[in-house]
Amino acid sequence: MILFKKITDLRNWLESQRKNGKSIGFVPTMGALHQGHLSLIETSKQKAEVTVCSIFVNPTQFNDPADFSKYPVTIEKDIELLAAAGSTALFLPDVPEIYPNGRPESKKYELGYLETVLDGSSRPGHFQGVCTVVERLLEIVAPDHLMLGQKDYQQCLVITRLLALMGNAGNGIQIHICPTLREENGLAMSSRNMRLNEADREKAALIHQSLLQIREELQPGELAPLKHKISGLLSSDGFQPDYVELANAKTLALVEVWDGKEELVALIAAFLSGVRLIDNMLVHKATE
Ligand code: AMP
Repeated sequence: MILFKKITDLRNWLESQRKNGKSIGFVPTMGALHQGHLSLIETSKQKAEVTVCSIFVNPTQFNDPADFSKYPVTIEKDIELLAAAGSTALFLPDVPEIYPNGRPESKKYELGYLETVLDGSSRPGHFQGVCTVVERLLEIVAPDHLMLGQKDYQQCLVITRLLALMGNAGNGIQIHICPTLREENGLAMSSRNMRLNEADREKAALIHQSLLQIREELQPGELAPLKHKISGLLSSDGFQPDYVELANAKTLALVEVWDGKEELVALIAAFLSGVRLIDNMLVHKATE
């Protein structure tokens, strides 16, 4: 695996790969890698001839500075894992390399409704920050294939929108949404899980169990009673739920009354011992 810290070096190398007719797969991450990230590398290896992984803890997407400063960094282990997983290259820039003129404030991405719900409303500015860094990285790497995790469901929709906003530069990029990898107890793998102690990592599996329960108990009609019940169960087990929601799987429009047909995704965000955890599950697939 080749390690690049500078944009120019990465671009030159990518240019030579393209000249040799190689397709490029890209896996952007914030490091503290786990098997979920590595499954994206695996997908990239199937879709493209060359895989570039980036590790960059992007300051512009953290609305809470404490969350940014506590974000786990395990770079040496990450490099070993990526090399073993067969990533062709790692892009490991520092902050001035990505933002040479300081924090970019001027550009506003028109994300519309997507920015007003769920993580959009709970984490103001978060998706603008995600778009800023992803657009920058996509301009640098110009991949053919982009691997994203379903774990960050809303982020997948935001980045799909970003590609549309990028016009020609985004048109040629094919997004692949990869399934959420879980611990044995069902907890969605996440770099943030490192901040949980062992007892909390066991307890955190309740988020996945709650999603399963929603899928099980889902009935056409008013959804508020089910959402309140699940939120109450999480609270009584020591979580501070941020949201328990059911939404249209394509648009993320929140669904209050379900007709029994609309494709639905259940999404949960909850704090446990001060760590914000998110997870989601497609709970109903459209039949026609
Ligand atoms: P992050 O480093 O958390 O920004 O994540 C980098 C990429 O890995 C994103 O596309 C995430 O959605 C994806 N990812 C994170 N956790 C998982 C998981 N448990 N399973 C699959 N993909 C994941």
